[in-house]
Amino acid sequence: MIVIFTDHIAAAKRAVDPSVHSGQGHSLAVCAELSKWFSGDPERSIEFVQVPSKIGWHVHLAAHDYVRDTPTVSGRRLETSLDSIRQAVVKSCVDSWISEFQHTSYRGRHFLQMGDMRDRPLKPSILKGGTWLSFTATESIAMTARMVRCILGHAPLGEYRARFNIDGEIQCKCGTFIETRAYLFGRCSFTQHGKTDSPRRLGELMDFLRANPRTFAFEAPSKGIG
Ligand SMILES: [Zn+2]
Repeated sequence: MIVIFTDHIAAAKRAVDPSVHSGQGHSLAVCAELSKWFSGDPERSIEFVQVPSKIGWHVHLAAHDYVRDTPTVSGRRLETSLDSIRQAVVKSCVDSWISEFQHTSYRGRHFLQMGDMRDRPLKPSILKGGTWLSFTATESIAMTARMVRCILGHAPLGEYRARFNIDGEIQCKCGTFIETRAYLFGRCSFTQHGKTDSPRRLGELMDFLRANPRTFAFEAPSKGIG
């Protein structure tokens, strides 16, 4: 029996995976050697044991350091490997997404634009759950839903009801003729306002939503319904 101690099970799995992937040539070489070895005796087996590097087990650490200092072996035509092509396709998709997103007709006329730390408009991303939703990773589903409704302008608001001709109150609770998102942010006497009329950053919007838990939320149904 061979026992392999590794801190990267995914890489070990890849090494014995003959299907199409980057570095498939290496995997096929490993598989060819292993199948020779396996055919020698039906009792032969390999066991993989995951050893996190942070444990610092000296035998594993010595092997880890040795491998790390060894130059990486790459394929002959790196730019046409499956991983490189996949990366190029993903980059091109994200680039066109970002470019489309700059047009109002694509992102929607009511989309609430906010900026990053340098006040550059936020742009879509596929990393870490995306630009907007990564902000609500530790928030409740209700809070996330309110944030999304608010940013998209699809929220139980007077201006939304008026726009889509939906039954219900158009006026704001404070008596103003029409309840709008901008009015709630900056002027409504029923909400606690932030520093500006409209949140400039996502953090400011989250603060506003926390301070005003009824905003962009549906009213609870009357007793006896549902
Ligand atoms: Zn109001």
